[in-house]
Amino acid sequence: MKKKTLKYPKELYVDSGYFDGDMDCEYIDEIQKLVKVRKQHECCGYGKVCKKKINLGDYAVVDKALFPGEGWKSCYICVPCIEEFLEESGQVESQESEI
Ligand SMILES: [Zn+2]
Repeated sequence: MKKKTLKYPKELYVDSGYFDGDMDCEYIDEIQKLVKVRKQHECCGYGKVCKKKINLGDYAVVDKALFPGEGWKSCYICVPCIEEFLEESGQVESQESEI
């Protein structure tokens, strides 16, 4: 089996700002961290609908938000979604820029 590795330093995934903006809902508190999932999740990346399965042992960024009257809700984003976001938002150098 192929070993899962991250293309960029893990801080970039957590601080990507992926969850900033585009959120109309009110939440009280929010936590983001990079995890290895212990059960299968569906990626809830926005933009295009990803819906990719995040398999056991894969890296994912989890966003937990505390909603008034509803409690904590978690949302898992797969690594390719975060990497694409980092590249599109110019937070990492894309290899093509090298001449
Ligand atoms: Zn995804």
